[in-house]
Amino acid sequence: MSHPTEILQTIFGYESFRGFQQQAIAQVVQGGDALVLMPTGGGKSLCYQIPALLREGVAVVVSPLIALMQDQVDALRQLGIRAAYLNSTLDFQTARAIESQLMNNELDLLYVAPERLLSERNLALFKQAMIALFAIDEAHCVSQWGHDFRPEYQKLSMLHEQFPAIPRIALTATADQRTRDEIIAQLRLDDAAVYISSFDRPNIRYTISEAQNARSQLWRFLQREHPEDAGIVYCLSRKKVEATAEWLVQQGRVALPYHAGLPAHVRQRHQQRFLREEGVIVVATIAFGMGIDKPDVRFVAHLNLPKSLEAYYQETGRGGRDGTPANAWMSYGLQDVIMLRQMMQESMADEVHKQVEHLKLEAMLGFCELSTCRRQALLAYFGETLAQPCGNCDNCLNPPETWDATEAARKALSSVYRTGQRFGVNYVVQVLIGKKDDRIQANGHDRLSTYGIGQEFSMNEWKRIFRQLISLGHLEVDMERHGALRLTEHCRPVLRGEVPLQLRKLQKPEKATSSQKEKATTVRRVDQDLWEDLRRLRLELSEAQGVPPYVIFHDSTLKQMAAVRPQNLDQFARISGVGETKLDRFGEPFLKVIKAYPPGVPVQADLSDTVNDTLSLYQQGMDAARIAVERGVQVETIYRHFSEAVEAGMLDARQALGLSAEDFESIRQALEMDEDAEQGRLKPIFEALNGEWSYGILRCVRASVYGAV
Ligand code: ADP
Ligand code: ZN
Repeated sequence: MSHPTEILQTIFGYESFRGFQQQAIAQVVQGGDALVLMPTGGGKSLCYQIPALLREGVAVVVSPLIALMQDQVDALRQLGIRAAYLNSTLDFQTARAIESQLMNNELDLLYVAPERLLSERNLALFKQAMIALFAIDEAHCVSQWGHDFRPEYQKLSMLHEQFPAIPRIALTATADQRTRDEIIAQLRLDDAAVYISSFDRPNIRYTISEAQNARSQLWRFLQREHPEDAGIVYCLSRKKVEATAEWLVQQGRVALPYHAGLPAHVRQRHQQRFLREEGVIVVATIAFGMGIDKPDVRFVAHLNLPKSLEAYYQETGRGGRDGTPANAWMSYGLQDVIMLRQMMQESMADEVHKQVEHLKLEAMLGFCELSTCRRQALLAYFGETLAQPCGNCDNCLNPPETWDATEAARKALSSVYRTGQRFGVNYVVQVLIGKKDDRIQANGHDRLSTYGIGQEFSMNEWKRIFRQLISLGHLEVDMERHGALRLTEHCRPVLRGEVPLQLRKLQKPEKATSSQKEKATTVRRVDQDLWEDLRRLRLELSEAQGVPPYVIFHDSTLKQMAAVRPQNLDQFARISGVGETKLDRFGEPFLKVIKAYPPGVPVQADLSDTVNDTLSLYQQGMDAARIAVERGVQVETIYRHFSEAVEAGMLDARQALGLSAEDFESIRQALEMDEDAEQGRLKPIFEALNGEWSYGILRCVRASVYGAV
């Protein structure tokens, strides 16, 4: 076997390469160096795994993620690849055995921790071995400005000096230009071909709201969209991690805490359960997640603000690596900002670093308070342009209302100015609302013209206005002087009332009215039972082998099996994610389960092509809104397609609309009692329900009662 595509298809079971995988592979196979920048889930591993199989010798993969090496190696062995790892968790005997496999050229891939690789003894050993290539995973760890700095990584530059003839490929999901430059400089990759793919993660839906009651917001989100899915909940403090995990357990979910204060064996156990069982929620500080390559994490929820957009992107990127829909959900509050600022201020870092961190936090906050497409802003931050709003973020799906804050902003800014730019938000707000306070009186601020001119807003409303003024750069917070507010150059036109200022309205508590709801795990109703059986078999097999279920097959592969229903090994082999080894090992048992069901009808012959197109996008996990964007038509058109499919029995209306059982029932009952609706007129009932449900939704629910109109 000598061609990358052949290996891709026969060993990994994938049809074609993604993005520039093929070019990167060719570069390394030919002996050149490469730097690969790809978002999480983009498919970086294949860029060194396939060259490892094509080049003579053992490919050495440097990775800081010791805890994950076992799983990575297990997954490769399932594919029939000879893989092993060397790190401090191995006993002496095992390590020696693996070293001798290395010397005898009996391995395709060897994972090593950087400190292990750099030891004198190992270097001597590697010099005598036949090395195919060095892959340096998580290469951003060389960056001392970054969030995962590892000093040993900087020493990896010596690979260039000591093994000049062996190709090196560095890989990371951190995209910004500075990190990129640092990797090239630190690792001496001056001659490397650089491959940068888009950092867009179209299957991730971004949703950010301000905390009103974060816990119950989280609970509603989980109930509505992820009642059974695995996911990660991030919190800022260990205490909050513990409390949130406990609370979720009380609510009946399997939730495990993970933070640096827990003993290593507990952390290890919780990570293992997250990987091996289904539907586990890990509640964690940022200490959890780097390199977790569980593909079916359906949601990442933040209960606090991340400290930068880089961190936000990385953390949310751990969701949906299998390419099917996932949610990045956040609820944040001003307290987070204050706490993060304090942590940054108190850190040991020098002033320059602190300044950088501060700016990054400001950018993060500004991102939260946007009223325009989040994906566009996120990609813009990483230097990428997305021409159109994405249609798959909260602001696109539910444009926030804005209000004219010109007058309020002037009051706020002039109050800061008149109190001498020496006080923090709380004090200035108290002046604005005219609070009787000793300090204000002692300072004579109760005699200012701005004293008490802001009584139209509450304390909290003012705080929010200040936050937006800060994140829009009209005000600056002086950390050295306990958070004193200062006017910036930028604010002058606003202060003079020359430019109007539109601010995002406070979000109303989430109401279950949106038509864009979707459960992230979309399996056709007709496939539901089969899908459950397939998952059961997968779990049995994975438990028997002591590996996570996704190592056997990913969810996306099982879904395809359930939809396509292959009837023999040939057909089975054509399912994406089925390679030769897995075909041998698992083909028969899975076929047996599938054959207990009638052969599938993936598309319905008596539906029009356009309805079938919509259906097939839906089966790929998109909801109506997303399909409308994908196909460039109105969402009402998609609902029309849905209603036909519902009538044909191809679609479950409630599932397709993402409605709760209660909502669905109440609409259905209203429709059943309505003569107009029976005759196909929806306007009266639309009005009777106060326009709460769009015609499209009514049409689909109606189709489940009377058929399509
Ligand atoms: P990364 O390391 O970039 O986060 P991985 O290498 O773990 O991503 O790949 C993410 C997922 O995508 C894996 O499940 C992998 O098997 C799958 N994958 C990678 N390349 C392809 C491809 N060409 N076709 C289909 N699936 C792929
Ligand atoms: Zn958007």
